[in-house]
Amino acid sequence: MAEAVDSMCEEKIMHKEVAIIGSGIAGLSLAHELSCLGIGSAIIDRQAVAGGQAAGFACKATDSCQRCGACIVHDYVSKVTIDDMIEPLLSCHILDSSRTSAGFELLLNEVPARIDQAKCSGCGICKKVCPSPGAIRINPYTGSFFIEYSECLLARGFSCSVCEQACFDDAISISSESVPKKVEALAIAIATGFEPFDATIKKRFGYGRIPGVITSLDLENLFRSGYFQNMGSENSFSSIAFVQCVGSRDIKIGRNYCSRVCCGYAMRSARLLKFMFPSIKVTMFFMDLQTFDRDFEDRVMAASREVDLIRGIPSEIKLGASGKPEVVYNDNDDEVRVEEFDMVTLSVGMGPTTPHIGGYLGFIGANSGNYGDGSFGNPDPTTTGVFRAGSANGPRTIQESIEHAAHVACEIDRYLCKIKSGVDVE
Ligand SMILES: Cc1cc2nc3c(=O)[nH]c(=O)nc-3n(C[C@H](O)[C@H](O)[C@H](O)COP(=O)(O)OP(=O)(O)OC[C@H]3O[C@@H](n4cnc5c(N)ncnc54)[C@H](O)[C@@H]3O)c2cc1C
Repeated sequence: MAEAVDSMCEEKIMHKEVAIIGSGIAGLSLAHELSCLGIGSAIIDRQAVAGGQAAGFACKATDSCQRCGACIVHDYVSKVTIDDMIEPLLSCHILDSSRTSAGFELLLNEVPARIDQAKCSGCGICKKVCPSPGAIRINPYTGSFFIEYSECLLARGFSCSVCEQACFDDAISISSESVPKKVEALAIAIATGFEPFDATIKKRFGYGRIPGVITSLDLENLFRSGYFQNMGSENSFSSIAFVQCVGSRDIKIGRNYCSRVCCGYAMRSARLLKFMFPSIKVTMFFMDLQTFDRDFEDRVMAASREVDLIRGIPSEIKLGASGKPEVVYNDNDDEVRVEEFDMVTLSVGMGPTTPHIGGYLGFIGANSGNYGDGSFGNPDPTTTGVFRAGSANGPRTIQESIEHAAHVACEIDRYLCKIKSGVDVE
């Protein structure tokens, strides 16, 4: 396959010192740090829009900033977009990879954008007519729409052009062809991030089955879509519960680690809801509140005046007679209680991405690097020249991912200095 793509993309070869896989906050900040050190990079992402998962988070400011970090991602996207040292390769899927005498080669397939961002007015008719939920998404930076090809019917071999036919702006061209590309680099940085825990695995919490049970990512979408802001003054939304550690600190499902971010994001969301609906009852079920942030303890103290904190994870969430979720839990006096809420948010944790990177980067050991082990740098000798940044290497907040990427940039700089001066790096 390598030769086939080679001959197809003779003129599309890109030489960069570092190829970064993943354009989340870790990949973006790593590219920026490398650029500050005079090192050029290409950022490869299979998504059409840079920023990773945090690009979809809502600002959690109340009457003051809650330091959620969502806006930082937008700042980094702007920095990277105007930096000549950085080449963003979005909508690019890795077809093949190899180690060469000079470093690494990655063969990519660039899926065409299909929606011309300059022509799209953001009317949203394409999203309304699209038969595949999730295929047409809004660009959080521009307000225009783009196609997430992996969700599109075309990616599954069907023929469909309803969005193209419906578009008033003549911005959609479904028939565009994929473009093969090749990147040659001296080092590889894996910044492929994490996958949120699939809440349907915890059947006793009824996600997908009981109306009103949502995940923290669903809650982000509700904030972003203006769902709460658009509730009329006579709304009946009066109670919400947060269930912490869903898919974290759970030895039974092989996740015996803390995801580090959930206490912070749940507490910020709780405070924002309290700010929007002062009379709402907010209850948080937790195992142990984690205080990784500098000012977290102060914020917990402030929140505990507004939020009912109950130590213990509910045993079950049931469908109540009124059609709302009922939470079964032991209260702080160890009495079993059943309480109805309008909404229950499951605070889902962070886990490794699937498939394992070893599946598409042939030179990575199948077991290299365990998610949550906290280590960084080269996980084993077979991966010399390959680095991991951000949450690809364990659960991290946005700020922690930026700090980790800065550290990795120094590691890469040292590595490049060594290979350029002929020092043995094996
Ligand atoms: C529900 C929830 C809420 C959160 N809220 C907060 C918060 O309020 N504040 C905070 O600081 N942190 C929060 N976090 C944590 C935050 O999401 C992470 O710190 C941040 O996203 C890590 O960035 P990253 O770049 O490491 O990974 P990601 O954001 O996961 O980015 C990884 C990128 O790599 C790309 N990628 C993956 N695999 C491939 C591949 N094979 N080929 C090409 N590209 C690939 C992906 O498309 C993605 O763009 C939250 C996490 C969750 C689950």
